[in-house]
Amino acid sequence: MMNERKTGYFDYNATTPVDPRVLSEMKPFFSEIFHNPASFYRLAGEARYRVEASRAQIAKLINSHTDEVYFTSGGTESDNMAIMGMVKHLKSKGNHIITSEIEHPAVLNTCKYLEKNGYEITYLTVDQTGQVDPDELIKQITSKTVLVSIMHANNEIGTIQPIKELCQIVHQKEVFFHTDAVQSAGKIAVDVKELDVDMLSLSAHKIYGPKGVGVLFKKRNVKIDPLAFGGGHERGLRPGTENVPGIVGMGKAAELAVEEMDSEAQRLRQMRDRLQKELVNRVPDILINGNTPKRLYNTLNISVRHIEGEAMLAMLDQDGFALSSGSACSSKSTKPSYVLTAIGLSPEDAQGSLRISLGKYSTEEDIDRLLEVFPQVVDGLRKISPFWTE
Ligand SMILES: *Cc1c(COP(=O)(O)O)cnc(C)c1O
Repeated sequence: MMNERKTGYFDYNATTPVDPRVLSEMKPFFSEIFHNPASFYRLAGEARYRVEASRAQIAKLINSHTDEVYFTSGGTESDNMAIMGMVKHLKSKGNHIITSEIEHPAVLNTCKYLEKNGYEITYLTVDQTGQVDPDELIKQITSKTVLVSIMHANNEIGTIQPIKELCQIVHQKEVFFHTDAVQSAGKIAVDVKELDVDMLSLSAHKIYGPKGVGVLFKKRNVKIDPLAFGGGHERGLRPGTENVPGIVGMGKAAELAVEEMDSEAQRLRQMRDRLQKELVNRVPDILINGNTPKRLYNTLNISVRHIEGEAMLAMLDQDGFALSSGSACSSKSTKPSYVLTAIGLSPEDAQGSLRISLGKYSTEEDIDRLLEVFPQVVDGLRKISPFWTE
């Protein structure tokens, strides 16, 4: 039953199923070891011990110190904490933030809020593969810049930014750097010492952990203000009784990611490349969006010209395939994806886009079945499209 629901699932960048090994680690922490980690007795100590063990598992995934890991409710909160916490702390220094046009809404909408409240935001443009230009970044830094926030890997097209290089530039100007690593963590190496970032966001549900738990990494000597106030949990930065089952699950998910990353990378890259090649062979007039070697190996974003992405999604859904068009967060609106227009797609081509993202439970049979059904779906829709002429 479980497995049946995972067949046809091609939306791993939106969320991932909880790995059964993660689930079994979490289970005791709901009703058996339910105790408040802050309490004095032995079972509370067990809960406390497991929260700290999870912190160590996550520190290992990103090569940080354990006391640099702060638990949050997810990637969105971590992004908010990093940006709002830094601008609050550096209020007297300046009011300028630099980010990119293709960030996740958790970063973009935080910046838009700040823009309405007296902040100046620079949105760096990207090239047709989704890369920001390091020279452009240098030019935009001023004495008023308090933070640069640029994502590690993009959720829609998979572009991987040269974070180490960008961070170096920013540090030369004595400005802090945050990166949203929600999509890269668990897929490619995320080493905070190597990248030298000051803050970094993670989310459990993108790495086969539960929804509603995440992490903000923050370097020991980097100071930010808290956004919430309470009982002093997470060293005063993020108060509230810990989500113990969630945290235990995220730790296990991080441990499994460390173990399985390399073999999964090879397997999924091979599957994605085969899918890409065969789709181009079998479907005339499609575009591969953000096609660069610096791209997540599990992600494939295509535009099928002259038809609507939404129409394809609906047809594919009937055949048991789950994919997305644009980003999940904007999939209720019919506006073309801002990420795709930022890389230079026309609104029409952006409307005809689909994101196919693979993961742990993707199989060769899944790919075969999609390759069989997809050309038929496109064919059917093009026959009734007023924009399509053979
Ligand atoms: C999913 C995602 C987020 C949001 O994480 P949540 O845990 O769902 O809040 C942030 N950034 C990126 C790049 C994402 O893909």
